[in-house]
Amino acid sequence: YFIAFEGGDGAGKSTQAERLAEWIRAKGHEVVVTHEPGATALGKRLRELLLDVRTEGLSPRAEALLYAADRAQHVDEVIRPALARGAIVISDRYMDSSIAYQGAGRDLPAPEVARLSRWATGGLVPDLTVVLDLSPTEGLKRSMGPADRLESEPLEFHERVRQGYLSLAARDPGRYLVVDATKPADEVFAAITERLEVSLPL
Ligand code: C5P
Repeated sequence: YFIAFEGGDGAGKSTQAERLAEWIRAKGHEVVVTHEPGATALGKRLRELLLDVRTEGLSPRAEALLYAADRAQHVDEVIRPALARGAIVISDRYMDSSIAYQGAGRDLPAPEVARLSRWATGGLVPDLTVVLDLSPTEGLKRSMGPADRLESEPLEFHERVRQGYLSLAARDPGRYLVVDATKPADEVFAAITERLEVSLPL
């Protein structure tokens, strides 16, 4: 079973992912928590590259290909082997990040970015994608700090990213859970576990 967390910066993805992992482990299952970009040795180098050259006018298509390369390595090296031995995998970001950031955000056609990502992953799609939805203003306020966060982008960019996520979720409600991330962390977590009580084969 493969769960992805998606959403803008500052939505609480990594906190909720870790918390969910503990919840599942307590039920006696192996859980692998991972993230994008940068979960593999290649990915770490790509992440440095992506977060460095970002401000220096990286071509949107080049950016999309680098994220796709990171994801291809991530799937082959981390996600598929874990799923193959029966572990539950939780990834902080996955292919919808590309559709939202490189697609909606950078104005590349979403179907093309989706196709690239499907090719890169050999068609591995999450069983459930949790979108932690937050307005960009609130998200950026919360994420202030680490230099690798992309506060350099205008607010409209982050607004397009948000709408990108919401339209993906609206098209396939069976595979998505959208949670209002302005709610207290405990309520966000409760919404996630409530859904998984139903859909997770434990
Ligand atoms: O989630 P994390 O903070 O590790 O992501 C690093 C940065 O990369 C984020 O600020 C996000 O805006 C950006 N990103 C992106 N396109 C992706 C994935 C992440 O622009 N496909």
